[in-house]
Amino acid sequence: MSDVMSVRLHLSGVRVRGVLVDSVDRLEVEVESTREWSRCPHCGFRCYKVWDRRGKRVRDLEVSGRRATLVWRRRRFCCGNCGERHLEDHDQFQAGLTRRLARRLVADARVMSIRAASRHHGVGWHRNILGLVRAHSARVAQRRRARPCRVLLVDETSIRRRHRYVTVVACGDTGEVLAMIPGRTKGSLTRFFRDQGAWWCRQVEIVVSDGSRSYQAAISQYLPDAVHVLDRFHVARWFTEGLTLVRREIQRRPADQRPPTYEPDLFRARFTLLRRADHLSDGHQAHLDRLFDAHPRLRTAWDALQELYRIYEADDLDGANEALGRFADLYATGQIPEYREIVDTIIAWGKEILAYHSSRRASNGPLEGINNLLQVLRRVAHGFTNYGNYAARGLLVT
Ligand SMILES: [Zn+2]
Repeated sequence: MSDVMSVRLHLSGVRVRGVLVDSVDRLEVEVESTREWSRCPHCGFRCYKVWDRRGKRVRDLEVSGRRATLVWRRRRFCCGNCGERHLEDHDQFQAGLTRRLARRLVADARVMSIRAASRHHGVGWHRNILGLVRAHSARVAQRRRARPCRVLLVDETSIRRRHRYVTVVACGDTGEVLAMIPGRTKGSLTRFFRDQGAWWCRQVEIVVSDGSRSYQAAISQYLPDAVHVLDRFHVARWFTEGLTLVRREIQRRPADQRPPTYEPDLFRARFTLLRRADHLSDGHQAHLDRLFDAHPRLRTAWDALQELYRIYEADDLDGANEALGRFADLYATGQIPEYREIVDTIIAWGKEILAYHSSRRASNGPLEGINNLLQVLRRVAHGFTNYGNYAARGLLVT
């Protein structure tokens, strides 16, 4: 009996003494350590003298759908050297769980809510699972942050929809999240750089961020030698705003006309208009050409947007500068005053936008995937109210 069970338990250093409960939904097995001795925590002496034994309940992975509990006959040793007594430890058991159950709980917390994992395994959720997850993710973060990082990605995500924000810092070389920090201020990022230390900061060659002045302030202070690149996806979103303003102005119809209050044909083209020219089908291009014939100003606005896209599509910095020059010519015609804000942005962030070409085309592209994973996590967990829990579980899924 004993031999069969020990094979089934697959726990090294653990011997089965007997089965206590063997019912349809529950299995309880009495076990003991195979080691003869225990090291005295007070003086380091090897103790062989057992004072007494206590039954310690340890939860294990379920066995064919049955909840399994090990009743560990835990020995109290009496030290032959200093006379102190101590309870033995076992490397397979920790805080009332077997190691393998602890690993499974952490793995499950990646795909289900803590509540679901706790119900599934019948383990008290706050004490056990969350503590395990946080301890595990702290180790993961420490390992990741110890390695040098050449390309650093910085972005923000919300803890709840449009509510509180978290700064996500990831390594562009590996695509791994390094830290999730409360807030999106200069202080959030400053804390991270300080923790990482000057040596680590000097290894960063390229840093990608969105157009936040707070992040920029921290980056220029702590990574003065790194090339700072503005994320192209954020910039592209800015770029499209001018064309959208022009379209809205053109499609508006006088208030005394019958509804709708806008030209439906123009409105329908709102997404097609924002596409890159080389991504348009012949049908779409024909549709746009019809609109441009009716509204020449829309063509100018569209040409201007295409030139802005070419800043990124260009092969090199010279190509990007040429596209920027053609954009400036179109703006100078005075036909598209709606692009005023974009021009201001380009003037303010020109260096960081063009740095795209001197940074091996770095972008926050890897962070898009990470953000999707975090969004799934927020759904699974039904939202987070606690930064620490969000950060701990965020590090596990990314
Ligand atoms: Zn001792």
